[in-house]
Amino acid sequence: MDLKSIIRDIPDFPKPGIVFRDITTLLQNPEGLRYIIDHFSDAYSDQRIDYVLGIESRGFIFGAPLAYKLGAGFVPVRKAGKLPAQTHSIEYELEYGTDRLEIHKDAVQPGSQILVVDDLIATGGTAAATAQLIDQLDCRVIAFAFVIELSGLGGRDKLPGAPIKTIIKY
Ligand code: AMP
Repeated sequence: MDLKSIIRDIPDFPKPGIVFRDITTLLQNPEGLRYIIDHFSDAYSDQRIDYVLGIESRGFIFGAPLAYKLGAGFVPVRKAGKLPAQTHSIEYELEYGTDRLEIHKDAVQPGSQILVVDDLIATGGTAAATAQLIDQLDCRVIAFAFVIELSGLGGRDKLPGAPIKTIIKY
C-alpha cells in the first residue's frame, strides 16, 4: 500500500522550514488506518506486552487500538498538567526551550513489559524522555513503534535500549 500518498505534507508548519507530516489524511482512509494497526499488531503478537504507552497526542490514536488488538492495557503519556492523579514527570530539551511529559505513578505495575507508540520519530527526544519516565516506574520498554520516521535526524541513536519499528520513512 502506498502510504505516503495518503499522508499530507504541509510545508512551513508549525514554523518556517518544517515539513509537517499530517496523518489526519491517513486516519480518514479506512484501508490506511487498518494497515497501520494490523502491521504493528502482527509484528508484536508473539511478545508479552502488558501495556501500550501512547505519547500525547497522536500516539493515543494508534496506541489504543493496538493495545486492544494485543490484549494489553493502554496508558497515556501526557504534557504537563493534564493528568489528574499523582504523576512522575520528566523535562526534556526542545529545539527552543524545554517541555515536560508526565505519567500517572500508578499507571503500570512494576516489572511490566511496555511498548511505546507515537505517530512520528524526528530527533527522538520525546521518545527518549518517555523511556526515562518508564525507568522511574521500574518497568522495561521492550519496543518502540512509530508510524513515520524522519531518518535524517538520528532519532534512533537516542533509543539504544530497545528495538524500533517504523513503517514509513522520509
Ligand atoms: P522528536 O522528539 O523530535 O522525535 O519529535 C517527535 C514528536 O514531534 C512527535 O510527537 C511528532 O508528532 C512531532 N513531530 C516532530 N516533527 C514532526 C513533523 N515533521 N511532522 C509531524 N509531527 C512532527
